[in-house]
Amino acid sequence: MTAQIIDGKAFAAKVRGKVAEHVTRLKADHGITPGLAVVLVGEDPASQVYVRSKGKMTVEVGMNSYEHKRPAETSEADLLALIDQLNTDPAVHGILVQLPLPGHLNEDLVINSIDPAKDVDGFHISNVGLLATGQKAMVPCTPLGCLMMLRDHHGSLSGLEAVVIGRSNIVGKPMAQLLLRDSCTVTIAHSRTKNIEEVVKRADIVVAAVGRPEMVTGDWIKPGATVIDVGINRVEGRNGLLGDCHFESCVEVAGAITPVPGGVGPMTIACLLANTLTACSRAHGLAEPD
Ligand code: NDP
Repeated sequence: MTAQIIDGKAFAAKVRGKVAEHVTRLKADHGITPGLAVVLVGEDPASQVYVRSKGKMTVEVGMNSYEHKRPAETSEADLLALIDQLNTDPAVHGILVQLPLPGHLNEDLVINSIDPAKDVDGFHISNVGLLATGQKAMVPCTPLGCLMMLRDHHGSLSGLEAVVIGRSNIVGKPMAQLLLRDSCTVTIAHSRTKNIEEVVKRADIVVAAVGRPEMVTGDWIKPGATVIDVGINRVEGRNGLLGDCHFESCVEVAGAITPVPGGVGPMTIACLLANTLTACSRAHGLAEPD
């Protein structure tokens, strides 16, 4: 039996639809339009694509999109001044600085200069701490999207064995925190993990966020497990994008699996919009959308 395919594209469209409804109500009832500012430094082609598509979808759900493009040689002082200005701008409810930044800029310093209430990426140290201590935080978009798909598929995640492969600050660690918050038994695997196949084989839920094309193969997967593939890899000589999981073999063993593309990717942007709506509602003391 082959796995159920979790359709992230359709799920993301539903999330965006709900966000758009809330935005319409915010405008009609309170005269408020949520605003998302995206800051892009330099000319990285992948970042340009992401920023364009974020801007397009922001407008599609009825929010204001503010794009701030700066040349690669922008100084740290100038970038911090821009963030300061966005922090105090009442029309801006969410601020996203597209990563990676050019090498001369200190990413931690820049991210931590964003007002945590406007930190819709959830990377500010305050939001990381709030999430880790189980308090109300801005949650990073990619793991939030993965969690939403998992909850939708499983209902309760309580007691399930989850293995997250990858320990980055933007995916692996917050993913593990979210699964822990939902009462999974969580293991984080990484490049130094011994017998990683055996570790992964214990899992009811596998989240692969590695950046190595097709590393996880079907023989790593416990029959019936749910596989969330975060990987986005471009490989020369192969068409399109590849995930971190070898789809053809995993689909034969798993109970459910996200495809690449069309799985986690679309959910990330949908969650960014949802976070912007949440930030806007909090800023105005209004009930938060669920
Ligand atoms: P990072 O490079 O920051 O982290 C990769 C992690 O994988 C590290 O913790 C590393 O371990 C671990 N790793 C590397 N090699 C191995 C190995 N052989 N076995 C086990 N673990 C290994 O990547 P990100 O977290 O930023 O991204 C991961 C993937 O997700 C990428 O493909 C990226 O493009 C994609 N991505 C997709 C998004 C989406 O919207 N769909 C959003 C963000 C990322 P160690 O720490 O020991 O080095």
